[in-house]
Amino acid sequence: MATRKLQRAHSADIHALHALLKERVKELQCLYGVSELIERPGVSLEEVLRGTVELVPPAMQYPAIASARLLLEDTAYETERFEETPWRCVAGISVDGEPSATLEICYLEDPGSGGADPFLSEERALVDVLAERIGTIIERFRAQHALRKSEEGFRQLVMGAFFGMSIVRNDQVVFRNPEQERLFGAMIDPAVPLALSSIHSEDQDRVLACYEKIASRDAQCADVTFRFHPPDQVTARTELRWGFCRISAGRYRGDDVVIISVMDITRLKELEQLVLIQDKMTSLGRVAAGMAHEIRNPLSGINISLATLERLFRGGADTAEHREIIGSVQAASKKIEGVVRRVMDFAKPHEPNLRLVAINKLVDDTTKLCAVSLRKHGVSLDVSLAPDVPLCQCDEPLIVQALVNLVTNAAEAFSETQKERHIRISTGCVGDRAYVEIEDSGPGIHTDLQERVFEPFYTTKSIGTGIGLSICRRIIEDHRGTLAIQTTELGGASFRIELPGGTTA
Ligand code: ADP
Repeated sequence: MATRKLQRAHSADIHALHALLKERVKELQCLYGVSELIERPGVSLEEVLRGTVELVPPAMQYPAIASARLLLEDTAYETERFEETPWRCVAGISVDGEPSATLEICYLEDPGSGGADPFLSEERALVDVLAERIGTIIERFRAQHALRKSEEGFRQLVMGAFFGMSIVRNDQVVFRNPEQERLFGAMIDPAVPLALSSIHSEDQDRVLACYEKIASRDAQCADVTFRFHPPDQVTARTELRWGFCRISAGRYRGDDVVIISVMDITRLKELEQLVLIQDKMTSLGRVAAGMAHEIRNPLSGINISLATLERLFRGGADTAEHREIIGSVQAASKKIEGVVRRVMDFAKPHEPNLRLVAINKLVDDTTKLCAVSLRKHGVSLDVSLAPDVPLCQCDEPLIVQALVNLVTNAAEAFSETQKERHIRISTGCVGDRAYVEIEDSGPGIHTDLQERVFEPFYTTKSIGTGIGLSICRRIIEDHRGTLAIQTTELGGASFRIELPGGTTA
């Protein structure tokens, strides 16, 4: 009898233990379910929260009548049937230390607790654990979202930046923005961090040294200015641009990297050059004005004396020969006066005296003026005038002066070479602009010198003054035009003048 009693009591214990274990297993399944939810690739916070709410009722003692709701700010995530009832278990959820949400579990009817708490203490503990877990999950998702947003913002900033940027990790390029591609062309090999083939040969060592200093962490940051050929010019190597480069040590996705930023400063350099030239022109103008003043006074004296002499001769021994000599001296003196006036004009800021003229006519005038000198240098001239060149607002003598100067320079350049002596002058138009090109088969001008030759006083000739080209450019710019050096199939130099077409006669 006693044994049976004992057996009954024992089987009741086992039954209760079994029931208890079943409850614990359900709770563990709920927690495991939440972990599984978070691990799902690409899962959103909303999906995790919705899924978590669905996992709670099955973990309760009476799953058939259990409902759950998670209230986060203005959003409610709830099971299909949710009602606030008196049989309720609630836990607050803190996010970043602030109470932000609640997790509620309600039985939709009395589970037969008879007024006592229908939730087991283990169930309340589970709801608390879940609430804490949900708080951590929300924090994690929000931090990830903020990080993604900031990475996205940074990426947008870098992708649209007006400077080129490369990130180099272990000498391998791992990122390059579109501006870097525009400056140096598409990347051929990620193991080549610097586009050395685009960089001017004289600047390559400096750029490399700068990179190596940062890559070896000898310094945190270094700047270098260099010249480079744009991607479509790397083989021809005609066009040169200027780059300002900052190389710095940094971190990218947890690794040490080298960041190479490059800004195209060609325009800035051009302006710098222009200011330099203008400075020199101003001082040249001052010197010229002084010289012109000194020459002008004695020149007026000479003219007055010549006029007196002429009058005296007319009164007495006036012969045709005397008059001719005096006439030619007077002409020479007037010519000098004209030159002096031109120099003085040059010293002042000049407003050209504009008239609508045909560029072809000015080329004609130029070839006539240069004919003798070209013959003397043994140069053959080929003139090709386009019929449809627009009329341009020009100060005729000034444009002819510039053209004569360019043709004379071309002719003089042949003295340095044994090559065939040929000059071609051609005209044409691009849109509403007229152009004149003066090409020669001479020695040409090295790319590195193509801006220097426009600097006042730059000359390679033993008796040169070095102001011809600077005056030419000044004249053309006063006409709102451009004067630039190009390459020519004739093998020498080519100077191209472009002038805006005028509209009224
Ligand atoms: P200058 O003729 O007195 O030297 P310029 O300003 O006219 O002064 O020219 C400057 C320099 O530009 C010249 O000394 C020469 O080296 C170079 N140059 C100009 N035109 C040519 C050309 N057609 N071919 C080669 N070099 C040229």
